[in-house]
Amino acid sequence: MPLAVSSTPETHAAPVPAAPRLRVPKLCIAVQAATPAELFSRAESAIKDSIFIELRLDSLVRPVAAIPDLKKLLTRHRELTLIATCRRKAFGGHFAGSLSSELEILQKAAESGAHIVDLEVESAEQATRPQLAKFRSALQAAGTALLISSHDFSRTRRPDGLIQAAEKIAAFQPDFVKVVSTARSLADNLSVLRMVQDQSLHQRIVGIAMSEEGVISRILSPRAGAAFTFASAAEGAETAPGQLSAHALLDLYRLEQLDQATRIFAVAGNPIAHSLSPLMHITAFRRENLNAVMLPLKVRALDDLLTIIRELPLDGVAVTMPLKQEVLPHLANMDPLTAKIGACNTLRTGADGKLYGFNTDVAGVVRPLERRMKLKNARILVLGAGGAARAAVFGLVDQGAEVYVANRTHEKAVALARKAKAHVLKQNLLAKQRFDAIVNTTPCGMTGIKQQLPLKENELNAALVFDMVYTPIETPLLKLAKARGLAVVSGIEMFVQQGARQFEIWTGKPAPESEMLRVVELELRRRAQA
Ligand code: NAP
Repeated sequence: MPLAVSSTPETHAAPVPAAPRLRVPKLCIAVQAATPAELFSRAESAIKDSIFIELRLDSLVRPVAAIPDLKKLLTRHRELTLIATCRRKAFGGHFAGSLSSELEILQKAAESGAHIVDLEVESAEQATRPQLAKFRSALQAAGTALLISSHDFSRTRRPDGLIQAAEKIAAFQPDFVKVVSTARSLADNLSVLRMVQDQSLHQRIVGIAMSEEGVISRILSPRAGAAFTFASAAEGAETAPGQLSAHALLDLYRLEQLDQATRIFAVAGNPIAHSLSPLMHITAFRRENLNAVMLPLKVRALDDLLTIIRELPLDGVAVTMPLKQEVLPHLANMDPLTAKIGACNTLRTGADGKLYGFNTDVAGVVRPLERRMKLKNARILVLGAGGAARAAVFGLVDQGAEVYVANRTHEKAVALARKAKAHVLKQNLLAKQRFDAIVNTTPCGMTGIKQQLPLKENELNAALVFDMVYTPIETPLLKLAKARGLAVVSGIEMFVQQGARQFEIWTGKPAPESEMLRVVELELRRRAQA
């Protein structure tokens, strides 16, 4: 069942605070640092991306010493909305002081102009009635909103459990309720989003699941009704596990534009953190004015992905390692090449909710080659006999090419060639052969791989060389081929071509290929310099 807004029993409803409602942007950048100087310098740069920041005062040894600078920051930036947090160690923060010290620091932050203070629910529970009443009247006098938060660092409970956590907080009648959990599966995001949808009907709620699996909640919770979500100031400056950078949330995932009509796609696999697919596809969606987004999903179990596809729901998925074979039994139908190759890299959800499978890796190999040569009867050597080689061998045989497979483990080459009706070649015979094209499908030459070339220099006997490796963009094999004056095809072209076909399957529109190629190339160059 698609994620839908559910109703909540009247008894669960918390009164909306009577104070004027503070308007907040959708994105809050969390900033922490070991010293006040660093904290405020980071805050200054965060303000360039968002006028809503959280200062983690508990990251400092003496949080109270930062209060004068906090006041100055707010005087310099009248446009800023600021949350002050001083979470104690026992509840997942860094502050080693007592409850009364925490309340005192938060009160001082409020009196210095902080717009919101974040108090963990355990502290609210531990405080005596007079202590809490004094704290709240100081906040009221300062015009500061109260956010009460709960953090579960081990798991995400079912939606009912999360709603209970939200209602425990709501009993204190804060201005904002924040429930943070830890995602152990993708399905945990559904619990968070359901809780957010439910609670947003009667209070301002923030709901997030930490960890790499919780990325869906970080991107989609405002769309589900959350008051805001959190980001880090930059990659590497995260204040919580799985936090995305402000740049990623705003510029890549376009947080501000996501709404109920946004179509959701995903790239799924493990590992997935460095996948270029979201950048490439979101750029294409934007270019074609499509209201759509692509999320990177780290998948530990296929069932978990199938749940998300069904219940989020997802319109389409780019499937990567190690799921390409595993998804086959779950497809209602697939194109003939997918069935023949036994690997699927693209899922489309039909209007009937069923999954349809395609293999666009084949087009990724065939298209760049057919643009440069006639494939019928062309002699093509494929180096390697793994997953990428399968797409190349089956695809090129299908186009009428005379395909030869050579692989480090010869038996694998024999098996693949037999299945695809190709030829097999022992590596020691390569020097005597000549080909129209050589396609490298081994990882040789890839950054981090010791072996630079997939063959010896005297074995490079072809008019064209296609290297599937694209990190670095110009591999040792392509450099050698270029130096010999041979035509070359980079692995980026394959990556973009397989992505362009996915785009067409999902949207029915021609893909903006040159724009897709441009952003992928730019990002790879940026990463190479980082
Ligand atoms: P895979 O299934 O693990 O297969 C790797 C193949 O390379 C195997 O045949 C293996 O031989 C061979 N190999 C590995 N290390 C070798 C070495 N040091 N010397 C000689 N042969 C070696 O991997 P895959 O999924 O096919 O991916 C292979 C490469 O293609 C990766 O670099 C991947 O990034 C790239 N790729 C690029 C695209 C793109 O869009 N451009 C798409 C898919 C894949 P054995 O059988 O002896 O182990």
